[in-house]
Amino acid sequence: MISNHALELAQTLVRMDTVSRNSNLTLIHFVRDELARLGVSSRLTYNADKTKANLFATLGEGKPAGVILSGHTDTVPWDGQAWSLDPLSGAVQDGRLYGRGSADMKAFIGLALAQAEAYLNSPAPFAVHLALSYDEEVGCLGVKELIADLRDAGIRPLACIVGEPTLMVPAIAHKGVYRYKCCVRGKEAHSSLTPRSVNAIEMAARLVGKLRDMAEGFEQHEARYDGFDVPYSTASVGQFHGGIADNVVPRDAEFRYEFRNLPTADAAQMQAEVLAHARALEPRMQQVAPEAGFRFEPICEVPAFLGSADDAVTRLAQRLAGAQGTTLVAFGTEAGIFKQAGIPTVVCGPGSIEQAHQPDEYVSLEQLGRCETFLQGLAGVRSVSELV
Ligand SMILES: [Zn+2]
Repeated sequence: MISNHALELAQTLVRMDTVSRNSNLTLIHFVRDELARLGVSSRLTYNADKTKANLFATLGEGKPAGVILSGHTDTVPWDGQAWSLDPLSGAVQDGRLYGRGSADMKAFIGLALAQAEAYLNSPAPFAVHLALSYDEEVGCLGVKELIADLRDAGIRPLACIVGEPTLMVPAIAHKGVYRYKCCVRGKEAHSSLTPRSVNAIEMAARLVGKLRDMAEGFEQHEARYDGFDVPYSTASVGQFHGGIADNVVPRDAEFRYEFRNLPTADAAQMQAEVLAHARALEPRMQQVAPEAGFRFEPICEVPAFLGSADDAVTRLAQRLAGAQGTTLVAFGTEAGIFKQAGIPTVVCGPGSIEQAHQPDEYVSLEQLGRCETFLQGLAGVRSVSELV
């Protein structure tokens, strides 16, 4: 059963409003101050306007760098969702901790923080690091700054455990999420004079068609990666806007699309194919209007994650969680970014993604108890060979 101390910390964090659009500094400062009471200093790295921060702390100063416990501090909003209780209540009812971020993923952070003293006094021959990020839910923005700071500071952790909700089963792969906005500039005209115009919607539609062709190509030809709900890469257009009136050839159109690439597929190549298609359409548009063309903006680029069942950190997570096998997850995490930075990584945390982002989000106390056992076990690891 989960200890009171750990549960109270999880509740405290859930009660802080850290929806991605808001500042997360209340939470970051709380964790910083809790650690400072134990004599642990924190590295904070801020966003451009200093309203949000990442926190990185080393428990076991003087020991070699060791394993990161990673969590994001932000949550998705709850606007328009039908909650039966206050999303910030942190209420415990019927064996569950309720609230936005309870499963995804503040409870993990609270439980990790509850072990801080144990890690400080641990016989483990390596340090445990806490890595808390901002703006994960809007595209894993903060963690990139955090990892750059570690690189600049010469801190080289050996492994990373990302505590996203996997029901405490170590997850070793997920797809990438690459999302872009495409703005199409054409030339307006009265709709009776189409040859003097460049129809932005129609040009946009050609690219949308290209995306659909690519999606069908993945479905038909891509090598399967079994274990995912959809065992091939997908492409999808999520929003399309354009036009002002039936009798005006539209000057502007805008659409947003995403790729969810298999860990074995190259998202940069997919985007390059879209760009090449756009560039091929532009000369004819520009014959009519030199300013016409396509402009692309990345919205989020979250790399796919591919760990291994053979990684030491995966085996360690299995042992600590008492889990038999490993799993794949359908959602994006920061794991691929840690892995890209050369840090062997596994995703393992309490609760289910089924409850994440939902009304009445919760994590069961049973899951929290298992997570606490996992985190306590980490303090007892005696050999660095369990990490690498
Ligand atoms: Zn999450």
